[in-house]
Amino acid sequence: MLSHKNKIDTKGVIFDLKKFAIHDGPGIRTTIFFKGCPLRCWWCHNPESHKLLPEKFDGCNTRRGLNHPFSPNEDEVGREVTADEIINEIEKDRIFYDESGGGVTFSGGEPLMQPDFLKELLNYCKSSEINSSVDTSGYSVEDSLKKILDLPDNFLFDLKMIDDELHQKYTSVSNKRIHKNLKIIDDAEKNIFIRIPVVPGITDSEENLFATRDFISTLNNVSEIDLLPYHRAGEGKYNKINKENKLDKIMTPENGYMEEIKKIFNELNCKVKIGG
Ligand code: SF4
Repeated sequence: MLSHKNKIDTKGVIFDLKKFAIHDGPGIRTTIFFKGCPLRCWWCHNPESHKLLPEKFDGCNTRRGLNHPFSPNEDEVGREVTADEIINEIEKDRIFYDESGGGVTFSGGEPLMQPDFLKELLNYCKSSEINSSVDTSGYSVEDSLKKILDLPDNFLFDLKMIDDELHQKYTSVSNKRIHKNLKIIDDAEKNIFIRIPVVPGITDSEENLFATRDFISTLNNVSEIDLLPYHRAGEGKYNKINKENKLDKIMTPENGYMEEIKKIFNELNCKVKIGG
């Protein structure tokens, strides 16, 4: 039963919907994972999310536990859904958002690859007074970003590597557009959570960490920095979907090491957290 009056038929492709998420922004959240991402980060733990359309991986059973009714076949990842279907799922947990200061996070993949679908869902959240966050790599055309810029309450924005050559090597895209988009979001005075993946031997060089800190210090609306330790949860998927895992055998950084990195960012005038 729909709890909203106007049916919204705009369609998009998602590959997961996670309830009671506590690492994707403030409070208890429902996280919607959009399919499609223009980056190819070496440390990506969702390699099955990269292509925009639903994909079949024969006999692999690789799908990420999509909640009913978002489960297609066991060897298929992603499904086309209407905004209405997602809104119904969002509404089921409204009581938890209200009690915990939570809401909905649109993640991926890269949600800005489906700007019209994203806009419909953000519009719904705004008009229904549900807190919303967009979790983005920042790599999108300016038009897509501007289409939704006013709508979310928070942006969770990844900063991976400041050196552009290294960024291109490890993510397959330049960071110039990413940095420009972050400035646009900051100029619009949106609340920003910066998310920094700490990947041993790649993003954790002193040079990169200090340069990241200096870049953040030029922004005015960053309320929190989340240091995300690399984890190996996605490793098994690469074999299953027959993709090369370039980070084989990299270990998760230890707590003491993460605390040292945290000290670098503590100088900034915002909350710094280890984990999302
Ligand atoms: S931006 Fe995120 S989803 Fe896209 S490749 Fe990088 S880690 Fe994976």
